[in-house]
Amino acid sequence: MMRKPLVMGNWKLNGDTKMVAELIAGLKNELASVNGCQVAIAPPNMYLSQASDQIKGSLIELGAQNSDVNVSGAFTGETSPLMLKDVGVKYVILGHSERRTYHAETDELIAKKFAAVKENGLTPVLCIGETEAENEAGQTEAVCAKQLDAVLKTLGAAAFNQAVIAYEPVWAIGTGKSATPAQAQAVHKFIRDHIAKQDANVAKQVIIQYGGSVNAANAAELFTQPDIDGALVGGASLKADAFAVIVKAA
Ligand code: PGA
Repeated sequence: MMRKPLVMGNWKLNGDTKMVAELIAGLKNELASVNGCQVAIAPPNMYLSQASDQIKGSLIELGAQNSDVNVSGAFTGETSPLMLKDVGVKYVILGHSERRTYHAETDELIAKKFAAVKENGLTPVLCIGETEAENEAGQTEAVCAKQLDAVLKTLGAAAFNQAVIAYEPVWAIGTGKSATPAQAQAVHKFIRDHIAKQDANVAKQVIIQYGGSVNAANAAELFTQPDIDGALVGGASLKADAFAVIVKAA
């Protein structure tokens, strides 16, 4: 069983034409000699086409930060999985805590998006994780199980073939307060075991990224853990040198 780690940059709502051009040029330069790790960037939708052109010939693959459930029609303001695929996207981040919080995305909606993304040949990156209050109340495993079950119940464990899970404790996102390697490993193992209850083979091969204040200083130690298969990186993905250190540590 060999899982090739995936380090993905979630640029969130950051960038402009010039910044995208410079950051990708910097990444191509810094990552030229990398192998043994999968690398992706998820710029805002507005810059996906530009990024898609610019990453050609490099190992960098393209992600999106969200997708609609529908492929076309009267859904003002949305972006469809087919459109994402059309411009060269491979991965789609779904269920990020910022979408759950600011856009009221429910587990049910996220499961529908997961299905739509897979049906259209893209790879979902399902974000799950507990809030600080849930963590303090000892509910971490229950919350992660509930968020996973929304997909498992509708699509079965096979849904996690060709899919990625990102464990992102909400209290660690953008706070500078990463989970410790041991804390993260315990939850990653719980996630893998939870899937293994339905399908051991799927559980063995599914990539489980850690996300939440990953940076150039803490990445290597996180990646020593057996069930941590790379990272979903926010803030530190906006600097080519910091992101490259994280990729090379994976
Ligand atoms: P952060 O964000 O690395 O800035 O904590 C991670 C994420 O939201 O995916």
